[in-house]
Amino acid sequence: MTTLPLVFDAPRRGLPPRHFADLDGAGRREALEELGLPAYRADQIARHYYGRFENDPAAMTDLPAAVRDSVAAALFPPLLTEVRQVSSDAGDTRKTLWRLHDGTLVESVLMRYREQRAGGVPRRGRVTLCVSSQAGCGMACPFCATGQGGLRRNLSAAEIVEQVVAAARTAAAGGFGEPLRLSNVVFMGMGEPLANLPRVLHALRQLIDAAPHGMGISRRAITVSTVGLVPGIDKLAAQDLDITLAVSLHAPDDGLRDTLVPVNQRWKVAEVLAAADAYAARTGRRYSIEYALIRDVNDQPERADLLGALLRDRLAHVNLIPLNPTPGSQWDASPKAVEREFVRRLQARSVPVTVRDTRGRDIDGACGQLAAAAAR
Ligand code: SAH
Repeated sequence: MTTLPLVFDAPRRGLPPRHFADLDGAGRREALEELGLPAYRADQIARHYYGRFENDPAAMTDLPAAVRDSVAAALFPPLLTEVRQVSSDAGDTRKTLWRLHDGTLVESVLMRYREQRAGGVPRRGRVTLCVSSQAGCGMACPFCATGQGGLRRNLSAAEIVEQVVAAARTAAAGGFGEPLRLSNVVFMGMGEPLANLPRVLHALRQLIDAAPHGMGISRRAITVSTVGLVPGIDKLAAQDLDITLAVSLHAPDDGLRDTLVPVNQRWKVAEVLAAADAYAARTGRRYSIEYALIRDVNDQPERADLLGALLRDRLAHVNLIPLNPTPGSQWDASPKAVEREFVRRLQARSVPVTVRDTRGRDIDGACGQLAAAAAR
């Protein structure tokens, strides 16, 4: 295991050419004016893009044929090129490796969860996309493949939105055997979203906004997951976006968390939870605590009790993640019996807890593994 430095500011290299999804309303009007087009064309283009997931102006047939090429050149540079797509879980998980304009690799994972009526808690069907917010990550968590690769650069707002538009297109086009609507987006791919906050916020607005200016995805169906950048959580709260917050805790005590989530050396467990509490107080909804169970590292009964005591009076829900071992790491997932005991102890303190199903294990499903494998 290597110990990497924390990197908060991304290198300024290689942001992609400007794209429709990078611009706000005024920027779009201006860009269209430069092409000699009236402002109302922006809404027309937005309807194609967010509503029909069309990013090729050649197919926007209500635009005058003569300007489609110039709109493409000025506003729709190709940002994502598919390098590889792999699927698992009988086709219900599809992972895509994308190459960006400068050769950088990022990945996103599309997962179908089928409706469940029998056995356990009934669950509505959904289609969830896990998106990347940065190429690489500067947060240096030792169990995470992306964290071990370091931070290459921030993604632009459009590079984030394009991942979502591509996924919505795949789902709508019957990628899972029948046309489905992309219902959920989780910022749990590569990168630390709150370290790329302005671009992530601009992307979030486009996911949330109603037609024609956005995709109309439900706010509570969007989750931003963070290592615990307290100033970022505060800023996100001030936006009143009402999306779901997830905090990657992974340890209830500062001693262990300092090593598992190195940013804890800056913002301690108590500060992170206080920021999450303030977020929940604004939205009135539970936040998630992510806890990757690592054999003999953070899975002891005492730690379950400590976590339970920390969370019992908070508006929080624990999402236990069986560790997905990264190549070359000596760490492993906890045995099922240990996991069950951990769950039992949290439940004994009335803390809501779920165990995440492991998707895409056979396709390097853990954060950053596919990109890391491709880079090798
Ligand atoms: N940077 C953000 C979001 C990306 S990671 C964050 O840390 O929250 C999404 C989640 O996957 C985090 O909880 C992260 O700790 C977890 N994760 C990373 N690598 C993992 C692995 N090998 N096994 C299980 N969970 C992992």
